[in-house]
Amino acid sequence: MNKASLAAQFQKVFGRQPDIVTRAPGRIEFIGNHTDYNGGTVLGASIDRGVGVALARRTDGERNFHSSYTGKTVRLTAADAQVKQTGEASWTNYPLGVLAALPHFGLGVIEGFDYFADSDLPTGAGLSSSAAIELASALAFLGATGQTPDRETVVKVGKHAENHFVGVPCGILDQGVSGFGKAGHLVFIDCAGPRFATVPMPSGADFWIFNTHTKHALVDGLYAARHRECMAAAHTLGVKLLVEVSVDKLRAAESGVEATAFKRARHVVEEIARVDGTVQALRAGDIGKVGALLTASHRSSQHLFENSTPELDFLVDALVASAGVYGARLTGGGFGGAVMALAGAGFGAAQAEAVAAAYAARFGARPDILPMRTGDGAAVL
Ligand code: ADP
Ligand code: MG
Repeated sequence: MNKASLAAQFQKVFGRQPDIVTRAPGRIEFIGNHTDYNGGTVLGASIDRGVGVALARRTDGERNFHSSYTGKTVRLTAADAQVKQTGEASWTNYPLGVLAALPHFGLGVIEGFDYFADSDLPTGAGLSSSAAIELASALAFLGATGQTPDRETVVKVGKHAENHFVGVPCGILDQGVSGFGKAGHLVFIDCAGPRFATVPMPSGADFWIFNTHTKHALVDGLYAARHRECMAAAHTLGVKLLVEVSVDKLRAAESGVEATAFKRARHVVEEIARVDGTVQALRAGDIGKVGALLTASHRSSQHLFENSTPELDFLVDALVASAGVYGARLTGGGFGGAVMALAGAGFGAAQAEAVAAAYAARFGARPDILPMRTGDGAAVL
């Protein structure tokens, strides 16, 4: 998926050349589990797969959306485009949400256009195809109207679209990593600012994603319950957000906090410390330490935050027992979804296959194996 192929596909659908072509990557949550809404820090990786958008202006006000995702064109008038779409057209809520977000940041909205999106990113695999389509769309709409806001604003436009138009209360991780990503680097986000930075990835370490396609039936409710538990724990500890509590302070307060609330708080507070530890280990080039912190993050999810599942635990156990694996953890919100492993040259397709086969023997279904590399952040091509 490059500029030429996106322009060629656009030409096929709309019979002319696009004015602008953009691309934004998906992301992996590297470490920093449920830390975002607690005001903490997180590390993510932008990957070498994403969503591309090609766009040309129209003078008649019509807004035509086509995605290889459905293979169909959705034609909307300016009035239609103010309303949330349903059914087969519901994917257009991502670009429509971006258009609805722009005025909130003092940015102008493009009137008519032909829009084409293509992707080499699986959707719903925890790799945030939604943030990718939001950022690629935002850069296309902005570029076609000659607007060049700073990167942080583009990231916030994408998040606003997802929170307010699509209606998913995600934190800043997904859009922040897609927007600030850089090949060979991880993106560090201090969610309280937010503040963004990149940290070099040591060479010789690759990401492997194992997508289980499992999803806890109550995942939304469980996510909301963890959010509530964290806020209640913070309240008991006399702070607004758990980021304000140090590991030592939390330990000293243990007797005054109800047991479950304490476990949730301990996961978040120690996870924030693990993010800091990971940044230091990356700077020191200590990949073994990085891997140990990833696995420690998973064990904390498993035993303290209780957002893992038997499927995810099985994959982590099998992966950390494999030669060449530095560490493994669930990636994303948990309660199903995917596991990420960080592995060196000793771990390849044959080893990944053995893990998938063991999983299939135990659970009767195969996980998808997705080898990933880091890739550059959202850009006009
Ligand atoms: P994730 O972000 O983990 O991939 P989400 O459910 O948040 O999963 O977002 C997936 C949705 O984003 C899809 O159902 C679709 O509506 C939209 N989407 C993602 N990529 C594309 C694309 N290339 N074309 C059209 N819609 C897309
Ligand atoms: Mg998403």
